[in-house]
Amino acid sequence: MNSGKPISKLEIIKQHIAAQEIEAGRKKGSVKLIAVSKTKPMDQIKSILDEGQIHFGENKVQEALLKWQEIKSENKDVELHLLGRLQTNKVKKVFGLFDYIHSLDRNSLAEKISDEVQKKGFCPKIFIQVNTGLEQQKSGIEPEKLPEFLSEIRKNMGLNIVGLMCIPPFNEAPEKHFKFLKNLADKNGLPELSMGMSSDYLTAINFGATFVRVGTAIFGLRE
Ligand SMILES: *Cc1c(COP(=O)(O)O)cnc(C)c1O
Repeated sequence: MNSGKPISKLEIIKQHIAAQEIEAGRKKGSVKLIAVSKTKPMDQIKSILDEGQIHFGENKVQEALLKWQEIKSENKDVELHLLGRLQTNKVKKVFGLFDYIHSLDRNSLAEKISDEVQKKGFCPKIFIQVNTGLEQQKSGIEPEKLPEFLSEIRKNMGLNIVGLMCIPPFNEAPEKHFKFLKNLADKNGLPELSMGMSSDYLTAINFGATFVRVGTAIFGLRE
């Protein structure tokens, strides 16, 4: 087994995920790893790409355009995820670059995306971000508003809603937030769960995460 080559951080994380799937009684391959490459330069990203990584996450539209437009046209397998807050005036730029949006959290944004769907004839896969900690400074819809928001969207907007996303409060244990989000997704018939970051992705897998978003543990600390 040992070829003498040092094992990469990415490989270690993939092994941890595979082991946790078994530990948690999850299906093999049911958890996808998003390598969160925000603020990181393309040379670092390319070495991860060369290791066969498919899913990448960025949190700013402008930065992603600069970094990914070209490389994505050369690497058709790459799936790009928008993790950060999306301003309505940037929606146009998202189409054709991002395959997933993790941060839908308000009507005005849903309507803007819907307009673009009509024009372009396709829709990225979308997660609704839920503010499970009811934090004032944080994006995300309040949990109690989710059913109505979803029913509006499902009526006539043509959006491809695949699941829910959360970022638990920084200073709290994440378990109850993950559990809550899983319940909310089940109740609302949504199959995908975007939850878990470098510090808690293994915990998130125990609670049903289907996408974990890992930056620091792969790329090192950000400036
Ligand atoms: C930056 C970011 C991550 C990755 O965080 P790490 O702690 O570096 O793994 C995950 N999700 C979102 C929404 C982020 O903005």
